[in-house]
Amino acid sequence: MADKEKLTQALQAKKANMDDWYPEVILKSELADYSKVSGCIVLRPYGYAIWEKIVAVVDEKLKKMGVKNCYFPLLIPESLLAKEQEHVKGFTPEVAWVTETGNSKLDEKLAIRPTSETIMYDSYSKWIQSWRDLPLKLNQWNNVVRWEFKHPKPFLRSREFLWNEGHTVFASEKEAIKDSQEVLDMYHNFVEEYMALAGAKVKKSENEKFAGAVYSMSVECMMPDGKMIQGPDSHFDGQKFAKAYDIKFLNKDGKMEHAWQNTFAISWRMIGVLVASHGDDRGLVLPPKLAPIPVVIVPIYKDDTKKEVMKKAEEISKEMKKFGVHLDDREEYTPGWKFNEWELKGVPLRIEIGPKDIEKKSVVLVRRDTGEKSFVKMSELKDKVPEVLDAIQKNLFEKSKKFLEERTKTAKTYAEMKKLVDGNRVLVDFCNEPACEEKVKGELSAKTTGIPLDDKFNAAKGTGKCIICGKPATCKAYFSKSY
Ligand SMILES: [Zn+2]
Repeated sequence: MADKEKLTQALQAKKANMDDWYPEVILKSELADYSKVSGCIVLRPYGYAIWEKIVAVVDEKLKKMGVKNCYFPLLIPESLLAKEQEHVKGFTPEVAWVTETGNSKLDEKLAIRPTSETIMYDSYSKWIQSWRDLPLKLNQWNNVVRWEFKHPKPFLRSREFLWNEGHTVFASEKEAIKDSQEVLDMYHNFVEEYMALAGAKVKKSENEKFAGAVYSMSVECMMPDGKMIQGPDSHFDGQKFAKAYDIKFLNKDGKMEHAWQNTFAISWRMIGVLVASHGDDRGLVLPPKLAPIPVVIVPIYKDDTKKEVMKKAEEISKEMKKFGVHLDDREEYTPGWKFNEWELKGVPLRIEIGPKDIEKKSVVLVRRDTGEKSFVKMSELKDKVPEVLDAIQKNLFEKSKKFLEERTKTAKTYAEMKKLVDGNRVLVDFCNEPACEEKVKGELSAKTTGIPLDDKFNAAKGTGKCIICGKPATCKAYFSKSY
């Protein structure tokens, strides 16, 4: 019955060949699809369900930190966008513009938001008058458009993407800095605990910081090819935007002061990192905490055993509802076909139940991450399932952590860095001058992927000379190829 479908369903590409494997696994697992607009993808229900899980967790964490959600317009007048020079310079090449409606040209062209600082801060300047109005902590879950010209890749590089953008305002520098660090810690915890990805907490170099920020911090992850990719970020903007957008408040001493600001974001790019990092030759491997379906039950029966097996399967499915168990009761597919499909879709744990299992009062558990099979007594299933899900979550994280550790090297000279930079991140002494970083970009197609931060947010200090230019090193930084 399903032979033809089986053929088309199985992955053709091996993961070792990432360029073919990555888009194929995304299409076949039905996370996303291409659309008629290059660089704009369709997020299908299975992919959207993962995004919803990401949103739910991060949103709850943000709310606990006192952040409130709101919504600002998609369109931003050109004059507003142009107010903070560094910021606009950073974004102009990627802005998509609305210039006409119907048959008439607009008096002022409107940008489709590449990010919302400008339009939000215009309102902030009206809303913030006194120290009593602070802190103001707002966030949007929205879409933005950045018209990139590099080759698009679903999730990793798309022209329109979903994200959160947090924009917070404080009365003092100290409060703002503390908050930006708490946000980075929150994201870091999310990446490691929920996505099961090793995340490096770093400060961005001068060359790589966000357009308009005083400094930027981020969580960086390593892809299977050893290239780094930026995950969520948290920026301390100082008073730059406050000065450009006139965000002032009357302090407790009755004096006018500019406010202090932060911005932070996590985008659906992380779904791409999740897919690439954990997946294998058979498809997705999802961490239980973000899997739309953490556990699937596949009943195995013939005509004469169907009734008995289905009855037991339904019973188990009901008992295990709180673990997000899905009973695959489709009659038009064979169990083997179902195994393949759920493996392709990365469901962390499969429960198989057939007539022989019922006789023995047990079921078969199959882990997606290791392929390991085990027989479990039905009476012990309630304890065993959460235990195994937990073990899978931990195993995925440990693998990711080990991979990042193995691929982290140190170089004392430029020649050494040159040798190591393909497939690794390389820690070196660095002057943090943009010219120096540009030189590495030109010669090695590599850039900094952060200055390491310790738990107290101290940036790693340089010892000796920058290995690129020989001037005194002001910090240590990782160099690597990156996405
Ligand atoms: Zn240098």
